[in-house]
Amino acid sequence: MKRGIEVDKYWNPILETMPREKLQKLQLKKFQGILKWSYENSPFYRDLYQSVGLEPGDIKTLDDIRKVPKTEKSMLREAQGREPYPYGSILAVPIEQVTEYRQTTGTTGQPVYHPETWQDWEWSAESWAYVLYAHGYRDYDRVFIPFGYSLYIAFWAGHYAAEKVGCEVVPGGVLNTEARILKMKELRTTALMATPTYLLGMADVARKKLGIDPAKDLYVKKITAAGEAGGSIPTTRKRIEEAWGTKVYDHVGASEIGHWGYECEAQCGLHVNDAFHLVEIEDIETGATITEPGKRGSMVVTTFDRFAHPCVRFDSKDVIEWNPAERCECGRTFRLLKGGVIGRADDITKVKGVLLAPTAIEEAVRGIPELGDEYEVVVTKKGDIDDITLKAELSPDFKGDADAVKEKLAQQLRVKTNLRYNLEFHDYGTLPRYDVKAKRFKDLRPKE
Ligand SMILES: [Zn+2]
Repeated sequence: MKRGIEVDKYWNPILETMPREKLQKLQLKKFQGILKWSYENSPFYRDLYQSVGLEPGDIKTLDDIRKVPKTEKSMLREAQGREPYPYGSILAVPIEQVTEYRQTTGTTGQPVYHPETWQDWEWSAESWAYVLYAHGYRDYDRVFIPFGYSLYIAFWAGHYAAEKVGCEVVPGGVLNTEARILKMKELRTTALMATPTYLLGMADVARKKLGIDPAKDLYVKKITAAGEAGGSIPTTRKRIEEAWGTKVYDHVGASEIGHWGYECEAQCGLHVNDAFHLVEIEDIETGATITEPGKRGSMVVTTFDRFAHPCVRFDSKDVIEWNPAERCECGRTFRLLKGGVIGRADDITKVKGVLLAPTAIEEAVRGIPELGDEYEVVVTKKGDIDDITLKAELSPDFKGDADAVKEKLAQQLRVKTNLRYNLEFHDYGTLPRYDVKAKRFKDLRPKE
């Protein structure tokens, strides 16, 4: 054993297999704690709660939590325009205590700045450490992280968490994809963390440019996929697992929330990280709380024990659904979601009057073995009618009848999305490739 590392610290049966009733009591206590902290220390939260006449002492049961006003990204963005610069009125600690700067990618506008104190940062890495342990990371693993170590949180906490678990971590920072693959081969790294898009892209580069088959010529035994939905989309996951010859485990998190969900080795769906977060699901149209499986809704999440930039009843717009399975084979009592994040409430859009989740298109395309990994969807309007074009690539070794593949794809798309598409096949390698998060869904209809 390495000095100073307790190998099994991140399997905590007292916490992770705690009876639900006891766990809920713990969550209520944690919720009350962060609510009181936010009220007393963050001008943003105090103003918000005072505006509806809410005092922290009003929350006495888990049902009472619904009285607490929700927050959302636009509110965070607005609050950060005030003092102290640049974090604004959400900041709940003296600014001298801030030790880390992060920001959101800002794909939907001005980025949200995210401060961490050293204590919050340790907490963040700690919650990731539970995730990695559940993915099978142990002190004998050598972990490769092919990530740009940039302004975004991405795999920063994953790096420190792997160290906390006792792994040896290789930062794949500024290397290009080929150099990263060669370094993984040279060092015989056994674990890897990346986005699903990049995992597929890396495998492609390894085969085409270096003549390396990741499943046979590399030593990777476990992969953590994060940053996109693909780790929980069965057909995408299968492609990554086949390309790398190993298991892929999904992980979900965001800078303003932390690491709120993960798969375990039993892969029964995503576990909510219940010891660190309270996850609620709300009906997108009515706002009613959804407690039963079978209905999708938007996630409202509270993060416990992170104090500089509290996250209390944050409407993340991630669309999720409870799992019908009560218990997981792994023994954890942390609640399960069916699949992973189905999409974002903003991305789930009506096309020809039908609700369309881009993840359903991905599932259909990646389920056709004759097609490559890349695709693109473009929605436009012709007159009053929506028009959808799906561009895909035939796999480079495909020699058969393209029309038969088109027929198969059209049928899968009908089953998964209830819509008809104009299908275009392009030469392999001609659609855009993405290094981190992909933008494959383009809605070019005029905004109403
Ligand atoms: Zn489990």
